[in-house]
Amino acid sequence: MLYQRSSALFKEAQEVIPGGVNSSVRAFKGVGGTPIFAKSAKGAYVYDEDGNRYIDYINSWGPMLLGHAFGPVVEAVKIKAESGTSFGMPTAIETEIAELAVEMVPNIDKIRFVNSGTEACMSAIRLARGFTGRDKIIKFSGCYHGHSDAFLIAAGSGGATFGTPNSPGVTQGTAKDTLLADYNNLENVKQLIEANTNEIAAIIIEPVAGNMGCIPPKEGFLNGLRLLCNSNGILLIFDEVMTGFRLAKGGAQELYSVNADIVCFGKVIGGGLPVGAFAARNEIMNYLAPLGPVYQAGTLSGNPLAMAAGLAMLKTINSDKDLFKRLEEKTLYLHKGITDVLDKSNIQYTINRVGSMISVHFDEGEVYDFNTAVKGNNNTFKAFFHSMLNQGIYIAPSAFETWFITDALSYNDLDETIAAVEKFTKEMA
Ligand code: PMP
Repeated sequence: MLYQRSSALFKEAQEVIPGGVNSSVRAFKGVGGTPIFAKSAKGAYVYDEDGNRYIDYINSWGPMLLGHAFGPVVEAVKIKAESGTSFGMPTAIETEIAELAVEMVPNIDKIRFVNSGTEACMSAIRLARGFTGRDKIIKFSGCYHGHSDAFLIAAGSGGATFGTPNSPGVTQGTAKDTLLADYNNLENVKQLIEANTNEIAAIIIEPVAGNMGCIPPKEGFLNGLRLLCNSNGILLIFDEVMTGFRLAKGGAQELYSVNADIVCFGKVIGGGLPVGAFAARNEIMNYLAPLGPVYQAGTLSGNPLAMAAGLAMLKTINSDKDLFKRLEEKTLYLHKGITDVLDKSNIQYTINRVGSMISVHFDEGEVYDFNTAVKGNNNTFKAFFHSMLNQGIYIAPSAFETWFITDALSYNDLDETIAAVEKFTKEMA
């Protein structure tokens, strides 16, 4: 593969954009080499500026559950754009998508739309703090909840790649209110609660972690958190930015039959446009401005193009009875195929998977938290990443990311991917 035009574009971009990118992990810093510049995408494929085609396992980091340039989404956006791109006034479509989301997701009465997953999580903790009158939150090492200050404490994803989880610019004052626990470790959470009696407003968690590779919650872990929250007046926040509308219609709450108090969304809910949302029962949501005292706002929140894209997406997901079954089958097929190939090599690995989220860690043994995730062999990952890229398979340029399986993938695409992994094992032998 040639990457000449991408290289030239990257050079040019670096002159005027810090690191040449508008979101850190895109810069390939963790794996080396030049980021490929996307030109277009359709279905399961993304095409770069040099004309290379890739089978895409990043899918814009999750939103493209149904594939790129999904017909109903594109149509809805085109039609909406003709009648104005933003009003800063309420529109009917905001209620339409809110009604559908409230119908699909368990245990929520109201939802507020924002512009990103970051905003959703940031607003959710402000709401939790306002509602409980407490300041502290518990988050888990390796979980990423966007780049707002309170969460840039041992964050996963780009933070993990760069090894600078505590960003300069985040004040000590902010950091002291964010308590850290190990994922899948209930005992740890219990201790933090005991040491901070009546001070913790919320526990925020990715119910399936996706920012240190894919890490499923252990049996009873989410329910254990629910019970701890119940007995200590703490709100449980599920950050379903990745898992929402992906693992089930009702996300992880539905999959694991555990209710959260506040749920955050992003990615799929916007169909690829900048959308985030947070939702809860009336009692909590009525605490938000203009009904209640907790302030929250946005010039472009509920933007008509974004709402049109999101609505087209949710309508399709809601009406396609077999979607989650198909996604699960495809992901399982890939899981088995890669397992068979890697088992024949002497490469140490662990694959984690939940529904259509899957990741390959290059280390043996169970990967269940950040400490076990960082044990993966990064040199093997780098070689894997570049081998796959050169074979036209686009996976995330970091060992700490999940692969997102899209419904647009065919079994031929999956076979091509498995064959590419086999070629990688030969390169490594
Ligand atoms: N929460 C989770 C679980 C995420 O994975 C992300 C982004 N990857 C965010 C929050 C932040 O979303 P955004 O990038 O849209 O701000």
